[in-house]
Amino acid sequence: MGPPGAGKGTQAEFIAAHLAVPKISTGDIFRANLAQGTPLGLEAKRYMESGQLVPDEVTINMVRERLAEPDAAHGFLLDGFPRTLPQATALDKMLADMGVALDVVLELVVDNDEVIRRLSGRRTCRNCGKIWHEAFDPPSRPGICDRCGGELYQRDDDKPETVAERLRVYARDTAPLIDFYGAQGKLVGIDATGPVEDVTERAKDALRPYGG
Ligand code: ADP
Ligand code: AMP
Repeated sequence: MGPPGAGKGTQAEFIAAHLAVPKISTGDIFRANLAQGTPLGLEAKRYMESGQLVPDEVTINMVRERLAEPDAAHGFLLDGFPRTLPQATALDKMLADMGVALDVVLELVVDNDEVIRRLSGRRTCRNCGKIWHEAFDPPSRPGICDRCGGELYQRDDDKPETVAERLRVYARDTAPLIDFYGAQGKLVGIDATGPVEDVTERAKDALRPYGG
């Protein structure tokens, strides 16, 4: 968990590889559907463009299908889900049906000014989805992904007007989940400022008691 721009996608990539589990990012799944022009992508588009959340029912059904895939049978890392209380209660139910439970909820703690700096310079690879930052984590050749040679682009929803709306939506709809998971004793917060590798080390340390 954490606000847009906290570094969830960046860290999820390293942590999922470290734990050898799939990273399930609802934002990535919506963007892939958008790129392929599927009905789900078309439906999600208008919400994403304006910084709103895609309706719970659509999102929950999508996650339910994704969790039923074989690679999720031995654990998974969720990135960007749940984002509302109804999503969180639906997740609890889905997991109960699967006979599993959440081990831990990791919260990346960063202040508002830093997330705005991070979002304004975010660049994403059109080909492999790797996340870069033009100043904080630049590729060696501007505009080109070091990992796969793909073209980097700026997400439409990283425009300043949309960023402001996404931060409002986070505070209103998603931040209450911090208390929800805190009350369940599942929440572990880490300082997500400083270099990416330092944050990854803090995340690994925080996950170690849970078998990470
Ligand atoms: P989220 O998934 O939480 O929205 P991202 O992982 O996409 O956030 O990160 C947002 C931006 O911040 C990206 O451009 C990323 O390269 C950059 N970033 C991530 N972690 C750090 C960090 N520790 N320091 C500086 N920039 C970072
Ligand atoms: P992200 O990549 O996590 O920043 O998500 C990008 C956008 O996708 C969000 O601003 C929402 O419009 C949509 N989205 C991603 N995850 C969810 C979710 N769990 N619930 C609703 N909308 C979501």
